[in-house]
Amino acid sequence: MEKGFTMDQAMQEAARCLLCHDAPCACGCPAGTEPDRFIRKLRLRNLKCAARVIKENNVLGGVCAVVCPTCTLCAQGCTAAGLDRPIRIGEIQRFLVEWAWQTGFSPLRALPPDGRRIAIIGAGPAGLTCAAELARAGCKAVVFERQPEPGGMLRYGIPAHRMSVEFLGRELRDVTDLGVEIRCGTPMETSADIDRLLAEEKFDALFLATGAWGSLALDVPHRDSEDVYDALSFLMLAKTAPDGFAARVKGKVVAVIGGGDSAMDAAVAARRSGALDVYLLYRRSFSEMPGDPVEKQQAIAAGIHFVILSQPTDYVIENGRLAGIKLVRTRLDAPDASGRRRPVRMAGTEHELQADLAVEALGLQPPPAADAFGLPTDAQHRIVVRDAAGNTGRSMVLAGGDAVRGSSIVARAVHDGKMAARSILEELARRTGGTAPAVIDAPADRR
Ligand SMILES: Cc1cc2nc3c(=O)[nH]c(=O)nc-3n(C[C@H](O)[C@H](O)[C@H](O)COP(=O)(O)OP(=O)(O)OC[C@H]3O[C@@H](n4cnc5c(N)ncnc54)[C@H](O)[C@@H]3O)c2cc1C
Ligand code: SF4
Repeated sequence: MEKGFTMDQAMQEAARCLLCHDAPCACGCPAGTEPDRFIRKLRLRNLKCAARVIKENNVLGGVCAVVCPTCTLCAQGCTAAGLDRPIRIGEIQRFLVEWAWQTGFSPLRALPPDGRRIAIIGAGPAGLTCAAELARAGCKAVVFERQPEPGGMLRYGIPAHRMSVEFLGRELRDVTDLGVEIRCGTPMETSADIDRLLAEEKFDALFLATGAWGSLALDVPHRDSEDVYDALSFLMLAKTAPDGFAARVKGKVVAVIGGGDSAMDAAVAARRSGALDVYLLYRRSFSEMPGDPVEKQQAIAAGIHFVILSQPTDYVIENGRLAGIKLVRTRLDAPDASGRRRPVRMAGTEHELQADLAVEALGLQPPPAADAFGLPTDAQHRIVVRDAAGNTGRSMVLAGGDAVRGSSIVARAVHDGKMAARSILEELARRTGGTAPAVIDAPADRR
């Protein structure tokens, strides 16, 4: 993981900020992190207040500082401010969060537990944010997590060279310090589990944030080989067994299929662990790749070979091992429903690429098992919610994050966790005739 800003660097960058009124950077942040406010506090050398602004708005402010695609969020807003180049908001934010950790300053406090108990399924950014907000307001928040460790895609998807496990662990401590209980290795799979948590275990409400862990697969005649991975399994191997991963890829030719962020992550992770050559195969042109421009540049710098306008048509499998990938060249036709120009196969351009390992990074969506929660779902197994708070139609059961949106970004999962927590608090207060504690600095609905 790259080093963050020093105090001097953070101050110098903050000094460039125009301290705009109605700051466009703040409008660009789905998590409601308010860069204009924390930069202003930093300019006044009030580091404690600056760190508090971040954490009160976004308990995962450190993670977001590192992984957010800022060029489409706050920094995009900042380009409207009239500077020659946008303020490096993510780096300033990371500096302030790390400064708080290093100096032992804890910006967040939780009200004493008052007997309200909320169950959360899934310890990713959506579930953890919801749990932290509820704990701050005096609820007992219990998170049920399938995996052995919390963090969701932050732990098992995003590669260590972009965010280390130690950095994530430090941020998760800010969540558990509020009294949030995380029960790892406890999957909740069905409507019967939801019934049990609400009826027998007497939780007052439930937030479902199980993410999008189902991988789309290439539709080809032959793919039955242990050398063909989906990107998530490949990246999980790199995160959970780095030595085994390195042994698997060292000296190999790896072909990654896809043009999004997971494809870049898988390609760079393979290259950094010693792959001889890594090809990134994409059926449209470079500019149409959905991946973050910064990550694309980093992949180029890492030596990834971009093979654009090429469509895989099948794998070449010999005695169960991958020997290569069959490809055909494409050309771009009129835009399709996605607004991007449609790739059309060019007859007579069929060829083969020798490869030892293939990684399919074709997109993620909730797995079919998500339908078993008994809540309305769409054709992509996403839970269908009725409003911006994530109400599902079942009383006191809300949902958010990638489980609702499909594969998205951390800041939007944080947004959903905050909105669900606020809705739960309001509904519980309404039922007891009280008012929701004003602990949550509620975000505007910036979807
Ligand atoms: C390779 C990769 C790279 C990414 N890079 C970025 C990036 O740079 N920037 C960015 O903003 N976003 C990035 N994302 C997207 C981001 O990680 C997700 O949008 C975000 O994590 C979604 O949060 P979530 O809480 O909804 O779901 P998740 O993070 O998926 O968390 C869901 C949690 O629920 C658990 N769970 C699932 N089913 C059950 C069950 N039945 N019972 C109990 N627990 C269950 C899972 O184990 C998981 O811990 C990336 C994603 C991937 C895959
Ligand atoms: S938009 Fe840019 S210049 Fe204006 S307050 Fe935000 S970071 Fe500062």
